Amino acid sequence: MHAYYADRFVLPLPAGHRFPMAKYGALRDRLREKLPAVDIQPAPAASDGELALVHTPGYIRAVADGSLAPQIQREIGFPWSVAMAERARHSVGATIAAAHRALTHGIAANLAGGTHHAGRAAGSGFCVFNDVAVAARLLQAEHARGSRRALRVAVIDCDVHQGNGTAAIFRGDPDVFTLSLHGEKNFPFQKEPGDLDIDLPDGCGDSDYLAALEQALASLQDRFEPDFIFYLAGADPHEGDRLGRLKLSFDGMEARDRRVFDWAWQRRLPLAFAMAGGYGRDLASTLQVQENTFVVALEYARRWAQAGIPMPASAREMRKLPADLSD
Ligand SMILES: [Zn+2]
Repeated sequence: MHAYYADRFVLPLPAGHRFPMAKYGALRDRLREKLPAVDIQPAPAASDGELALVHTPGYIRAVADGSLAPQIQREIGFPWSVAMAERARHSVGATIAAAHRALTHGIAANLAGGTHHAGRAAGSGFCVFNDVAVAARLLQAEHARGSRRALRVAVIDCDVHQGNGTAAIFRGDPDVFTLSLHGEKNFPFQKEPGDLDIDLPDGCGDSDYLAALEQALASLQDRFEPDFIFYLAGADPHEGDRLGRLKLSFDGMEARDRRVFDWAWQRRLPLAFAMAGGYGRDLASTLQVQENTFVVALEYARRWAQAGIPMPASAREMRKLPADLSD
């Protein structure tokens, strides 16, 4: 299974900054050591044209040249630097690469990404560009060259924070379904309604969480017929997270991942996942949750490899399109 990384761009954060930038490189090291079946690849950069499928030209330019308005800069939460701009671009590229890979191999990952607070014209909450939104729009644009029917994308966002940017970007779009399962009392304090929002109370544990996920997937099933899944596998619902406010155990987190991967597999839907948030009081707990996500994902990658690619017709059509997707 391929996983794409962009951690060579390390942001120069001020001392004591609360964002755990080291987690990206640490996850890559850990997977290399413990799960060598994960084939870790450097991410390409998303181009301006790809970013422009979602983001406004003015915002793309301002991120590139460091001319963001101070208020937007504050809302993002990272000081501007060349590395910040490059990292954001490559993190989107990682999700695009994972999505392309998933089309031909069933499942693939971005070791970062899931930057779901970013809207069209402004970033927020450590999110600069919205990687999943850009990748979804790109898959749809590529698909449109070979099909009369739009590619239908479901975003299953299990990061503990609501996917407000994604919800706003796709509001009213019948071909993208946004599902967010998140802490009611957590950031963003003003939620943006998506297609399906499940608010969870503080302290929510394994059984309540998994029941809510089950209901959410049943509702998704009733209301939408996806061709492709993006999954935000945030580690921050874990009880060891300092921002999450929920109480999922390691087993509960793993059961969550398995339920989503299995749901997609049972329907033979290609799935690209991004790690999204994870702010363990102890970095090791975040890394353990993330490693467990990859253990489960590898099981489904093996199933895809054994089964060949019995994908839905729309996904098969897409596989014929860009030549560079065939490897
Ligand atoms: Zn989060």
